[in-house]
Amino acid sequence: MIDFNVPPFVGNELKYIEEAVAAKKICGDGRFTKQCNKWMEDRFDAQKVLLTTSGTTALEMAAILCGLKEGDEVILPSYTFSSTATAPVLAGATLVFVDIRPDTMNIDEKKIEQAVTERTKAIIAVHYAGVACEMDTIMKIAKEHDLKVIEDAAQGVMSSYKGKALGTIGDFGCFSFHETKNYSMGEGGALLINDAAYNEKAEILREKGTNRSKFFRGQIDKYTWVDYGSSYLPSDINAAYLWAQLEMADRINDDRLESWAAYYEAFRPLADKGLLELPFVPEDCVHNAHMFYMKLRDLEQRSAFLSYMKQNGALCVFHYIPLHSAPAGQKFGRFDGEDEYTTSESERLVRLPMYYGLKKEDRDQVIALVKAFFAESEG
Ligand SMILES: *Cc1c(COP(=O)(O)O)cnc(C)c1O
Repeated sequence: MIDFNVPPFVGNELKYIEEAVAAKKICGDGRFTKQCNKWMEDRFDAQKVLLTTSGTTALEMAAILCGLKEGDEVILPSYTFSSTATAPVLAGATLVFVDIRPDTMNIDEKKIEQAVTERTKAIIAVHYAGVACEMDTIMKIAKEHDLKVIEDAAQGVMSSYKGKALGTIGDFGCFSFHETKNYSMGEGGALLINDAAYNEKAEILREKGTNRSKFFRGQIDKYTWVDYGSSYLPSDINAAYLWAQLEMADRINDDRLESWAAYYEAFRPLADKGLLELPFVPEDCVHNAHMFYMKLRDLEQRSAFLSYMKQNGALCVFHYIPLHSAPAGQKFGRFDGEDEYTTSESERLVRLPMYYGLKKEDRDQVIALVKAFFAESEG
């Protein structure tokens, strides 16, 4: 069976974990955590990066730092993972879902402004498949209405928009290092803080409400409890695993992009015949091959496709039942305007096996199966 996902493993992960253990430093903010933070700050030209326990908790930190509270409204797409929505909900905010663009599956920037009310406090831009949202328009709307922008860049590590790394454009950016993402530490994530005014508050929030980070930097003599907070630091064991991958970030990225391009080229003739739709990457966007998706005719054909692939030894998946149609989405939010594309487009989407180290022969097998499926359904 060809797996849908295999967690990345490049080689030095266990060596670095051993080093963390030998250094008797396995709690948070050890050597590897610091190296990862620094690497991301340098590589992405980010003002400040803090590793977190997950992409979900990075989003929670961002929601808290934005000052979201009961009665506030947050604009987000409905076509996303539940974590994008749970973070503002935990802060007490109400969700306002906006339709997506059918070409990128990202929030439709042209439909955001009509959803803004006096209560709106933030926009969460989800960079689906590591392809950027139309950030210039989103930042402009945010500026005009005094809104915060949180980038859910869980899928967008190493992607960029007009030369800027995803996660560094809004007020806050959130990465995920879950095992299904391009770079992994099992469970983990990172918060990117793009305005230095939030640095101290973020450190306190992450360190159980204490000013311990300041203490470790020698800026104060003893540390104490100064504000509300939680524990959002991952163990240095996890950071050691991630460090091995960040060191080889380009190799991982190139490998994924090669698989992505091979799929794209192979299916272009099918797309030209109108049998399927391929992903679209706008000119200003550099993506990271987080996923390879395509869109089929409808829900029925998708179900047939998924079982055909599985029967023939390749695992393909679909995802995201639109959040506004889920029980919690109905409880915590509303859809603004018309659901023109969110539901209909999500029902047609399938994802093909995509991971670091996907073998050429397996990739070719997936390609052959997809072609065979369409040859059969055409004939
Ligand atoms: C994976 C993902 C998350 C959550 O990340 P975790 O690290 O699993 O908590 C949030 N948003 C999107 C769009 C994701 O793909």
